[in-house]
Amino acid sequence: MLNIDLHCHSTISDGLLTPTQLVERAAMRGVETLALTDHDDIAGLAEARQVAVAKNITFINGVEISVSWRGRTLHIVGLGIDPEYTLLVEGLAVIRAGRSQRAENIAAELAKIGIHGSLEGAYAHVGERRLIGRTHFARFLVEQGHAKDVKSVFKKYLVKGKPGYAAHEWTTLSDAVRWICGSGGRAVIAHPGRYDLGKNVLKDLLHEFCTLGGSAIEVITASHTPEQAKQFAQHAQTMDLLASCGSDFHGPGESYYDLGQLPELPSGCTPVWHDWKNNA
Ligand code: AMP
Ligand code: MN
Ligand code: MN
Ligand code: MN
Repeated sequence: MLNIDLHCHSTISDGLLTPTQLVERAAMRGVETLALTDHDDIAGLAEARQVAVAKNITFINGVEISVSWRGRTLHIVGLGIDPEYTLLVEGLAVIRAGRSQRAENIAAELAKIGIHGSLEGAYAHVGERRLIGRTHFARFLVEQGHAKDVKSVFKKYLVKGKPGYAAHEWTTLSDAVRWICGSGGRAVIAHPGRYDLGKNVLKDLLHEFCTLGGSAIEVITASHTPEQAKQFAQHAQTMDLLASCGSDFHGPGESYYDLGQLPELPSGCTPVWHDWKNNA
């Protein structure tokens, strides 16, 4: 079976490894096809591709776009995108600009419960200032002893209903899918099991996503239990969606799955890579 990993992060967003280190780790772990999918940024793709080529890895240009849909945040992965496509490049720049304002709002929320200095503290953990995100706040909170690890932070802070949460309007689902498809890529709903959607809302989302031109959902991801993987494999088949798989690796010790350590797609799924050259 092909060792393929279509979702991971570098220091360009909230990963711990540089694009070079990430691809080197993937190579060491036997990954044959890799997509780098940093949040709202494509600045790591050229470096990652260069290393991938040297390591004989098939490299897929990717991105993970933050979207607001019916008051929720969704993540849409783009695979096989063109990093020079103007609408995509400009759209991502707008999303990133919103991140710095949100970071100030998060810091103000944390200050309300007596946690001061978090803005500077979070920026100290960031690779690229423009991509400041909750993971960087989480690493600061761990460093300050407010939680034992990043995962535990998200149980107590930074999420709806908890201290340090700041609501934020990202881009629309329709824009994200349009930018991805317009650039020649394939749009994938990332970790659909994480959004806690009821049956009807999930159905609405999948319908709307297909109508907009979206073509795949993640079935295998660190966010899914084996049971959820089966459920979403079923949804993919019912909706004629392709199935994707990715570790969502952020760094050693911070992620449930390491690069290229993924279970197989359940049988009956059509892989999102089924018609890619080199992988057929
Ligand atoms: P942001 O895009 O800045 O809102 O940050 C989202 C990122 O926070 C995700 O991509 C994860 O890296 C991290 N994150 C969110 N929820 C959790 C969680 N429960 N456990 C660990 N990391 C999380
Ligand atoms: Mn992340
Ligand atoms: Mn995500
Ligand atoms: Mn991710």
